[in-house]
Amino acid sequence: MPIRQLSETMINQIAAGEVIERPASVVKELVENALDAGASKVEIVTAGGGLSLIRVTDDGSGIAEPELALAIARHCTSKLSDDIHDIRSLGFRGEALPSIGSVARLSIRSRTASGDSAAEIGIEGGRVLPVKPAAANRGTTVEVRDLFFATPARLKFMKGERAESSATSDVVKRIAIAFPGVRFTLAGSDRSTLELPATGNTPDGRLARVAQVMGKDFPDNAIPIDAMRDGVHLAGHVSIPSYTRANALQQYAYVNGRPVRDKLIAGAIRGAFADVLPRDRHAVTVLFLSLDPATVDVNVHPAKADVRFRDPGLVRGLIVGAIREALAGAGIRAATSGAAGMMAAFRPGAAPYAHPGPTAGHRSYDAAFRASGFAGFDRSPQRPLDMGEARPARNGFGEDGQAAFDTGPLASADARASVAEPAEALLGTALGAARAQVHENYIVAQTRDSLVIVDQHAAHERLVYEALKNALHSRAVPSQMLLLPEIVDLPEEDAERLAMHSETLAKFGLGLERFGPGAVAVRETPSMLGETNVQQLVRDLADEIADNDTVETLKERLDRIAATMACHGSVRSGRLLKAEEMNALLRQMEATPGSGTCNHGRPTYIELKLADIERLFGRR
Ligand code: ADP
Ligand code: MG
Repeated sequence: MPIRQLSETMINQIAAGEVIERPASVVKELVENALDAGASKVEIVTAGGGLSLIRVTDDGSGIAEPELALAIARHCTSKLSDDIHDIRSLGFRGEALPSIGSVARLSIRSRTASGDSAAEIGIEGGRVLPVKPAAANRGTTVEVRDLFFATPARLKFMKGERAESSATSDVVKRIAIAFPGVRFTLAGSDRSTLELPATGNTPDGRLARVAQVMGKDFPDNAIPIDAMRDGVHLAGHVSIPSYTRANALQQYAYVNGRPVRDKLIAGAIRGAFADVLPRDRHAVTVLFLSLDPATVDVNVHPAKADVRFRDPGLVRGLIVGAIREALAGAGIRAATSGAAGMMAAFRPGAAPYAHPGPTAGHRSYDAAFRASGFAGFDRSPQRPLDMGEARPARNGFGEDGQAAFDTGPLASADARASVAEPAEALLGTALGAARAQVHENYIVAQTRDSLVIVDQHAAHERLVYEALKNALHSRAVPSQMLLLPEIVDLPEEDAERLAMHSETLAKFGLGLERFGPGAVAVRETPSMLGETNVQQLVRDLADEIADNDTVETLKERLDRIAATMACHGSVRSGRLLKAEEMNALLRQMEATPGSGTCNHGRPTYIELKLADIERLFGRR
């Protein structure tokens, strides 16, 4: 076959292959157009999962009649001036409408503020229909029927109506979070109606929109984030460690108002929560990054959900730092939210083990209840380890964390289960004065207005862990020489990346250098890792650096080692504590960021307000 130019329709269908993957992608493009047009109301209607009908109506600026033909022509946009690096709108490629028009039956009816009537244009499988007058209010209605009728191969890949409907809801929710000043409705015979009234472009309004989308219990279980570094601003909310999900779907991220799915951001969130969440749980997050449009490239993929940051290390560092700091300040919240569930469980008539229903109210009860650690949260088994052997202090770490608790032999003879009059000053502290130790693991303490119960094992584990980590990060990590250097063969780019980061890696105790093309020689490994699979470690690190331009993997690995050691070195339940020991533990918890949860994300203590206790006894 001779070389020839493809037809306009073929070109558009090829583009559609990338931009229009499924009905939800059509909805995304049309809603983005409505928002770019300054709409304050966006109404979406679908039928047949969006395959038979998608209609998006907005009250935005509209399209003037003479421009209707341009709107559906390829590479025509009103949004990009001369600078591809200065993108401030959601759209800019000028290819959504022609792409949709090449694979479906599309019609646009529109009226501008100054136009005295509306006009309509259509395009069906790439065939343009003439412009004709129409009746409409100001704004635009875009209707898409019979999606993929012109590309039957694509139609075969569609999942069921239900799956497509719910993908569309996700798209609408995701984008709605970034536009709380806009009212969204999503309706149709194929779905239950989603109504999101405008909540306003204020901080409160933004949080209210988040609550509309994620459930009313999210704000009660979330911590605000607000941080700035080198011109990059991060705002939003993250869940407290006791409020988690089994997958990362409830992590919403926005870059300059654009919803994105970004590996770097996801990785940063994982890193920030690594210390406080079990490995198979995920935080719920809504994060908005704002930065100079010139420092982020959104023109990575036609669907515009991928971004590249000019300074990925800065963005990652900002996210990890801001979340960790917020979590450190919120340890108390993690614990008190659990008490609410417990109070509910105590209340006469409560059925704590009944499966909670799907309503929002029940969900919050459920979350709080689980947070309290009462609903069969699986505790990791207490390993019967010899404490002397596993004690981290012997390895040169964590002396600080350990010191306060090494105040006597286990179960010293004069340990008392109950303590006399508390000092007045102690009652004013956050965790109060220790009064008793019960069931050999729970410290009961008293503040001026509450009763505090501490899980001593969990609390101590956390304290030792924090001390270990400090030691890790404040000085060079000891390393051990390998008898023979281990040669790791890698793709040349990976070898190069590792060599570039060799100085940082050395700080973590990993000594490596280039070993000819496509290989590195490892001479030293961190002693804490013991006998480790060097090949695997080095490859993981290379991947990590390629993805994020950081050496977080090694740091996280070491943090995990620290966590394991801490677990072995902690005061196990069953050890009787003296009053001074109990109070020392409480004071140290108050002084340690993150001590509200143990390394596995469970609360280390719960607080019952006196007022609530009195209510339980019918005294109020
Ligand atoms: P892009 O959004 O990348 O510019 P599109 O193909 O999505 O490309 O849209 C082409 C043009 O049509 C837009 O630049 C805009 O001028 C116009 N347009 C599309 N939808 C609307 C709308 N709902 N309201 C006003 N103008 C619109
Ligand atoms: Mg567009």
